[in-house]
Amino acid sequence: MKIGAPKELARGEARVALTPESAQQIQKLGHESLIESGAGVLAGFSDDAYRDVGVSVVEGADALWRDAEVVIKVREPAAEEVERLREGQTLITFFWPAQNEDNLERCRAKGATVVAMDMVPRISRAQKMDALSSTANIAGYRAVIEAGNQFGRFFTGQVTAAGKVPPAKVLIVGAGVAGLAAIGTATSLGAVVRAFDVRPEVAEQIESMGAEFLFLDFEDSQDGSGTGGYAAPSSPEFREKQLALFREQAPEVDIVITTALIPGRPAPKLWLEDMVAAMKPGSVIVDLAAEKGGNCDLTVMDERIVTDNGVIVVGYTDFPSRMATQASLLYATNIRHMLTDLTPGKDGVIVHDMDDDVIRGATVTHAGEVTFPPPPPKVK
Ligand code: NAD
Repeated sequence: MKIGAPKELARGEARVALTPESAQQIQKLGHESLIESGAGVLAGFSDDAYRDVGVSVVEGADALWRDAEVVIKVREPAAEEVERLREGQTLITFFWPAQNEDNLERCRAKGATVVAMDMVPRISRAQKMDALSSTANIAGYRAVIEAGNQFGRFFTGQVTAAGKVPPAKVLIVGAGVAGLAAIGTATSLGAVVRAFDVRPEVAEQIESMGAEFLFLDFEDSQDGSGTGGYAAPSSPEFREKQLALFREQAPEVDIVITTALIPGRPAPKLWLEDMVAAMKPGSVIVDLAAEKGGNCDLTVMDERIVTDNGVIVVGYTDFPSRMATQASLLYATNIRHMLTDLTPGKDGVIVHDMDDDVIRGATVTHAGEVTFPPPPPKVK
């Protein structure tokens, strides 16, 4: 089949779903690969780099959508892209079906199959296709790099002829995929790192990365652990204890990176105005939950603000796109693995096996039906 990646239309989006590396792997599955001219440029991949590995470079989005039997993308399709979809075509992309019901219905009406990379079930077998984790990993890393860029001092402590420099103190709130990546990055830069999560089971992971787990002594069994390894809303008593812990930390820490999310809900407000006011001037907060309303009271989505007491609050939501080369390499690999599962004979023939947990879970429209939400996977 012909697998093609168009140029992303979303403003500021620099990632691409096909890299020269993934194209070669896709060709080994018996497929042909296509790219819209210029689609990889912002991620560091020229048209020639694709041509060199046998990718056909086509001019313009219309030609790409016409020629490709399977279209692979990063961002959910824009209205004009849905318009280009045709019966029997497959689209593999981040889609966010719960937030894009109209788009879902339009894709169904077009008779297209849509595979949503954000719906890949989080089971062991599907880790190689887990684009949410690839993206969160990059966001966590880049949040620390951004904090370092905004912070006027070293991360690591130093003893120099000009004086002794203390290490920066970094607090990571939420130790999921992004939080753990942030912990790894901040410790490797030499900072003193502390982390907190409502799921006590992450303590071991935090400590194995050289950070301190901020332990909350709480008798009630109702901490913040939910189902499937995700968090649930905390009880009011737990929340009060958590906020008291953060109030103690606020005057001490130099950098706070917040990543706390609860599936299907707005981000919990955890770093309140009084905590920001208690921080030292020059301190930095990077709020990775900005898109879901922010963990910090003062976060403004997609902006960097400086408070009256000189604290910098960063609410950017495009960290993966700011690392477009790395993000594209990982995402294109996730897509390539999805295509491998969709091409069991390695013969260029896509077999859409709706009995396969991973394919079923990620498929949101197929054969004229909306197939979202999926049933729970049979295997863990
Ligand atoms: P997420 O993005 O939903 O949330 C980020 C973190 O915020 C979580 O660790 C959560 O516990 C934490 N949090 C929520 N409320 C909080 C609060 N009030 N205070 C502090 N922290 C709070 O999570 P994620 O990164 O998607 O990962 C969630 C889980 O999924 C983890 O257990 C992870 O190991 C698991 N996971 C499994 C797979 C797989 O098996 N394929 C892949 C990825 C992640």
